[in-house]
Amino acid sequence: MSNISYRAIQQTLASLSIPTDAPVIVHTSLSAIGRIQGGPDTVIGALLNRFNSVMMPAFTYQTMIVPETGPDENGIHYASGKDLNRMAIPFTPDLPVDKWMGITAAAMQTYPLSYRSKHPILSFSGVHVEQGLSAQTLDAPLMPLEWLWKRNGWVLLMGVNHSVNTSIHLAEKIAGRTGFTRWAIQGDKIVTCSHFPGCSSGFNEAAGLLDGISTQVPLGDSQIIALPLQAMIEILSLYLQQHPAKLLCKDPYCQRCQEYRRRYGGH
Ligand SMILES: [Zn+2]
Repeated sequence: MSNISYRAIQQTLASLSIPTDAPVIVHTSLSAIGRIQGGPDTVIGALLNRFNSVMMPAFTYQTMIVPETGPDENGIHYASGKDLNRMAIPFTPDLPVDKWMGITAAAMQTYPLSYRSKHPILSFSGVHVEQGLSAQTLDAPLMPLEWLWKRNGWVLLMGVNHSVNTSIHLAEKIAGRTGFTRWAIQGDKIVTCSHFPGCSSGFNEAAGLLDGISTQVPLGDSQIIALPLQAMIEILSLYLQQHPAKLLCKDPYCQRCQEYRRRYGGH
């Protein structure tokens, strides 16, 4: 397993030639990259040394509940969540991010000067991104991504592929995918979260479409893939307008992908 220093990460980030004033959204899997001296704080430190504004997802699916009934054609089996509902945890600003988001996303949530948005399921956290994060609402969960997009932001995939590239949901939205309704516990209330995006498991199908705008550099046992959001969203929103049932996962039990196939005519 590679042993990676702060300096190595810093040099790799510098080699990407991204403007340092461009805000970045970062998705990470440190276990794929190797052993990083100092762990996730080293990665965040190197990112903040290079970029002024750094955002990461801080999602908390453990807050979700499934009601007995709800709107039709919503990619969900109602009343299927009775046992899970009992285990749901109310969202609070200090609720830890889901474990599968990775230890770097967890470290960002508590990093000095970091700010976290307030969506009970799809919050983001980061440094110098408060303006974008505070634009997020229950009805507009993707606003932090729109903020990055309008400011010529970049996506960095560190040791992960496009199946966790949350910003692709913005291309879906622009292509006309309206999302779903979901519910979560926030404090002592049940809140409705509209325009909740679809499943991202099929997003790595986009990799080939994005070759021309992707920069890949090795880091440890894996790599960093960097993409400018403007170009990525333009390519993928056009692609989805022409192929509305693409970028969906192959799991026959995935209710959100099946619902999108039904709405947009795929197989
Ligand atoms: Zn799916």
